Amino acid sequence: MSTAAPALSGQDEFLGHPKGLYVCFLTEMWERFAFYGMKALLFLYLTKHHLFSDTDGYLLLGTYAGLAYALPLLGGILADKYLGMRKAVVYGGILLVLGQLGMAYTGHAASGIQGDGQQDGFAVQVMYAALALIAVGVGFLKPNISTIVGRLYADKDPRRDSGFTIFYMGINIGAFISSLIVAYIGEKIGWGYGFGLAGVMMALGLVQFVLGRKHLLGKADPADAAALRVPVFAGLNREWLIYLSGLVLAAVVWLVLQTRIDFGPLSSLVGGHEVTLTELVAVVLGAAVYIWFIRLMFSGISPAEKGRMIMLMVLITVSALFWGLYEQTYGPWVAMADRAMDRTTFGIEWTAGQTTAFGALFVIAFSPLFAWLWPRLDKVRLNPSYPGKFAWALVLCGLAFAVLAYAAANPGSSGMVSLWWMVLAYAVLVLGEMALSPVGLSAVTSLSIPRAVGMMMGAWFLFSAFGEIIAGRMGTWAQVPPEASMAEALAVYGSVFTKMMWIGLAAGVLLFLLTPLLKRLTREG
Ligand code: GLN
Repeated sequence: MSTAAPALSGQDEFLGHPKGLYVCFLTEMWERFAFYGMKALLFLYLTKHHLFSDTDGYLLLGTYAGLAYALPLLGGILADKYLGMRKAVVYGGILLVLGQLGMAYTGHAASGIQGDGQQDGFAVQVMYAALALIAVGVGFLKPNISTIVGRLYADKDPRRDSGFTIFYMGINIGAFISSLIVAYIGEKIGWGYGFGLAGVMMALGLVQFVLGRKHLLGKADPADAAALRVPVFAGLNREWLIYLSGLVLAAVVWLVLQTRIDFGPLSSLVGGHEVTLTELVAVVLGAAVYIWFIRLMFSGISPAEKGRMIMLMVLITVSALFWGLYEQTYGPWVAMADRAMDRTTFGIEWTAGQTTAFGALFVIAFSPLFAWLWPRLDKVRLNPSYPGKFAWALVLCGLAFAVLAYAAANPGSSGMVSLWWMVLAYAVLVLGEMALSPVGLSAVTSLSIPRAVGMMMGAWFLFSAFGEIIAGRMGTWAQVPPEASMAEALAVYGSVFTKMMWIGLAAGVLLFLLTPLLKRLTREG
């Protein structure tokens, strides 16, 4: 039992933490189970079942995941202002179940060649609608389930950090088991069964949340329950109007997911490409965040605060590039595992989607190590600053690509790459993740001026969304024609991974060079 446990001590606890933590842990575990299991299958499903071209597959993966990380900004605001966290989680969970089950409807497989097949148009539209429901569902659920965790602890409760560590474990346990189970069932038994299982487990997670709601001790209730019941429009009260708007939003996302913009004669400006509507919206939103930020800089804050805020904005910006590289794991890494990898070890042939499990596995393995490492480094004055840690993250990310680029250039006698290269690449990549992802969350809470923490946290996830979108676009470099041989495919992956290696290394070195400057900014004034 915990020794220092103010506020809630003794009541409604289990193993030294509020019981509500375990309710949130299980809800988020099953939500991430559904999200990552589905993500492990998505590129394979698009290119093998509906015969999307590689390029279209990567772009949709990025667009969908980008929206799923951008919408939490809205879900967080709606919960803060009106719904409260508990109702937002339940509503998001329902949309997620509907979306996952919608994915289980796969229609008939396209015929013809990849990139130019005869698709089941109705099934493809059902899929876009299902992806839209999932993206909006994540938007309502993800930010709010994390906020509830924070609210279960009193302000100065020393158990808060370990509570979040346990919660982050839940995320990765969910991701790990679903990469193994959902990917296997989807690839080996049937796509629809994999997606369906994700939906069923999300539904169980939701039931568990509803049954366990009393352990949240009213901390996730709406700020003003009466205001929710006031009829505001066409006899609907505010609560139902929000639910209805969520569905309208899903309909909009359904269209946005499949809209591309052709710049016609101006298309050379965008490298001759059609641009997805999501990419365009991301550019506008990104510009809006910087304008908001610059105005904040001139709103009478002290030079010291200004320095810290500039450092934080640089970190958030850099994180988008990190996630852009990191998320190649669900695109070209899966494609390479599928097409040119000997995936048999210990007598078991793993599926391509299952290889994504290594990411979560290493997070689980390394988390305790890093929790131990940072304070140790601090004692001997070697704990890197925030930008120093982010620079390491980029360099490690570049090195992970170096491993795979080397592997692609040196296949075994079968012409295939060994799975062990991918294991090593994931290990190096996750070392980078450890220096950036949890560190970033802590940086937001400690560097931001108090009145902007919420916005900066929103910006942190928004830039994760930009990362997903960047990942989709960079993924298109790895387009392999359907008739390509294994050696030709490996040549493409090798050259693309080399390019990504240089991007990671160069960005990391640049940030190392900027680090003294950023540190000076935070010290002065
Ligand atoms: N892997 C973490 C999660 O799924 C963080 C991802 C991110 O911030 N891009 O919650």
